[in-house]
Amino acid sequence: MPSDNEAKGIVFLPLGATHDIGASCHYLEIEGTGILLDAGMDPDLEGQDALPDLSPVTGDPTRFVDHVIVSHAHHDHLGSLPYILKQFPHARVHMTPATRRLADFLLPASARLQRRRLLEGSSLSDPVFDEDEVEAVSYMYEQHEIETVFDVTGVRARAPLQAVLHYSGHILGAAGVEVFCEEGPEARNVFYTSDTNVQNQTIIPGGHYPESVDIMILESTMGSNGFAELVSRRSEERRLGESIARVLERGGSVLLPVFALGRAQEILALLDRYRRRRVIDPDVPIYTAGSMRAVADLYDQTRYTTPRLNEDFEVFGVEQRRLPRSQSAKRDAIREKGIFVVASGMMFERTISNEMARMMVENEKHGVFFVGFARDDSPGGMLLHAAEREEERVTLDPVQGEQHLRCEVDRFMLSGHSNRRDLLKLVEQLKPEHVILVHGESKSIEWMADNIRFFNPSVNVHIPSRGQPVRL
Ligand SMILES: [Zn+2]
Ligand SMILES: [Zn+2]
Repeated sequence: MPSDNEAKGIVFLPLGATHDIGASCHYLEIEGTGILLDAGMDPDLEGQDALPDLSPVTGDPTRFVDHVIVSHAHHDHLGSLPYILKQFPHARVHMTPATRRLADFLLPASARLQRRRLLEGSSLSDPVFDEDEVEAVSYMYEQHEIETVFDVTGVRARAPLQAVLHYSGHILGAAGVEVFCEEGPEARNVFYTSDTNVQNQTIIPGGHYPESVDIMILESTMGSNGFAELVSRRSEERRLGESIARVLERGGSVLLPVFALGRAQEILALLDRYRRRRVIDPDVPIYTAGSMRAVADLYDQTRYTTPRLNEDFEVFGVEQRRLPRSQSAKRDAIREKGIFVVASGMMFERTISNEMARMMVENEKHGVFFVGFARDDSPGGMLLHAAEREEERVTLDPVQGEQHLRCEVDRFMLSGHSNRRDLLKLVEQLKPEHVILVHGESKSIEWMADNIRFFNPSVNVHIPSRGQPVRL
């Protein structure tokens, strides 16, 4: 039997999560060139467990990584880059200039966090890279502007290969990746949507896409969310504004758990609009914390050089206070009424949003409002489900135990990901021969597969498994 490399055709091999939102990292082989699409880390795991499994590539002498293309700076797409470059020191690394600036801030912060958790004893995992290693590899990053073609031909390539980054609308710097070959039997293009949003958000406009695609690697995050397609962003924005106003009027505080990169800045822009339009009382303080403040700074610095709906808007122009560190000061701030925009979006244990939710959840005056994606098995997902089922108790952190669930809990469809109808329309628009579904829980991927097959019967739909090559 020939090895995968000797056989002709394009090989797609996921090394990280496929039936889940974990570490995104996909090996793509075209005409003898090996490319890694993304170098993510699972946000819910630590140490080696959080990394993609590189063994299907490192364990096969016919496979090698010539290039790593990073779609955007979210941890599940970027987080293991320094580790991966230790394994493939000759690989060239490509990303947009804005993603590079975010990476230069986020990866050293990740190295420090891994070390701190080990020293504090809150993690038993050895750090997978340190700050010196992050700095050493950062000199290898090559930056490419959106819609600019660059060469990605590998050393053992049988045909030249090129790539281009398309603006994906998800967060600052985010791009879909198109790789194409114009000569030989594999004269086709592959388009990796990564995380994508076709619609305008508050700061960031909707994505741009190639005209047509032969092989499409499509994200499926919102595939199981039937609600998101029924509501417009505008009506959800209105509903969130009214909900926040209602909580504040009854003397409560509002917790908005967000991802520090992307959701936090979009929500601050929205809160600013509510204040200007007097939807909410402009005197109620907005609190922010941690890395989202540094990320906001990068959003502001790049506002004339990356796509914006309003380039004059500055995230730091929104009056905000730094969240106090001590528990007692946080409790005082909650008691005195405030809007808390804090990470993590899924309320993982040992994050500020989890700590604050535990302080607020037993008081019916307060509101906890989700504005992004929360995995079912995350504390945020569990709180949402408990509230939907009107359960009386909830556990946000097993170490801290069960609590009464009395506060208002709701979710608003203001995600940075396209809803599933928009994803189906994108398939229709790009007319691929093959669609490979990634980046979604199993039920999301199944819904996407069923509906793509129903509406586009000529499309070959693939549901890959980690470590299993798909040959196209
Ligand atoms: Zn993302
Ligand atoms: Zn993602």
